[in-house]
Amino acid sequence: MKILSKSEIFSRQYRRSARRAKYLAQNVFLDYVTSRHASFIVVDDLKGRRHIVLYRSDKPIKWSCDCKWYSTKLRFCAHILAVNLRLNLDDELRMKIEKNLKE
Ligand SMILES: [Zn+2]
Repeated sequence: MKILSKSEIFSRQYRRSARRAKYLAQNVFLDYVTSRHASFIVVDDLKGRRHIVLYRSDKPIKWSCDCKWYSTKLRFCAHILAVNLRLNLDDELRMKIEKNLKE
């Protein structure tokens, strides 16, 4: 599984999104995992929204999100960063996914 490191997440290019990701990382839930996909739900209590973040091992661009920000800018949003941060911190979750994914 190709995930961003903590230093990449907190690098200058993501700035404000990374600060939100730190908060959102507590509210990341695994939806499902198959041999090609991992789907996550990110719950944003402050905005009363939830977003689906998808990882596709068979695509050149692995990460996508259903939020408006991602679909207009095509840059990693706070939700994608939140999932990546969570996967840096939560070995158990990452191993559960990597056991199923075929890359
Ligand atoms: Zn998003």
